[in-house]
Amino acid sequence: MSEHVIETPKVHTIPTSDGGAFPVRRVYCIGRNFAAHAVEMGHDPNREPPFFFQKNPNNLDASGEFPYPPHTSDVHHEVELLVGLKSGGTNIALSDALNHVWGYGVSLDMTRRDLQGEMKKMGRPWEIGKAFERSGPVGPLHPVSDVGHPDQGRIALTVNGDLRQEGDLNQMIWKVPEMISYLSEYFELAAGDVIMAGTPSGVNAVEPGDTMEASIDSIGTLTVKVV
Ligand code: MN
Repeated sequence: MSEHVIETPKVHTIPTSDGGAFPVRRVYCIGRNFAAHAVEMGHDPNREPPFFFQKNPNNLDASGEFPYPPHTSDVHHEVELLVGLKSGGTNIALSDALNHVWGYGVSLDMTRRDLQGEMKKMGRPWEIGKAFERSGPVGPLHPVSDVGHPDQGRIALTVNGDLRQEGDLNQMIWKVPEMISYLSEYFELAAGDVIMAGTPSGVNAVEPGDTMEASIDSIGTLTVKVV
């Protein structure tokens, strides 16, 4: 094997609840996976094929701080279930999909909504609004052996103690096995891939100094300070 000609980029990891590290390969994020959120963003809540965008593995950040990013004045919180895969493949059957999950966590899909809105208007890609540095605050991944496969339970987010987002995992339009199966028809999934599973309604702006508290019943709470 040839030697690397530049410094080898690090494999990015996120912590697990049992003290380990989960190496991240790819980050898939689903859009509009709760009907009430689709409506608040001005879209039809009826079930149409899912769509996904990506963040970069090293956008995920377990530091508990979210630095307010540049070139925006409208950064929104989106609380989401995080799904971490231990294996993958192509054309994964629905009935087999959950066998590929290592565990679950609480995450935030932080979004430069003003930039995303401009990109939508022009029909351009969303990365500038979605895939910026530290745009994915995460809590630890909890193994399936501890939390099972949560498909119901409250998902909520407060800012400075005020309730902003609230829903139930059972309101997800596309369930975890469906997302895995669908993605595997278009991409080759593999160990280290994670899915951010969509946000309930109530997305809104944060400001430096705010404290976000994201929680999912049966998984836990992620506290992130905007700095
Ligand atoms: Mn999202």
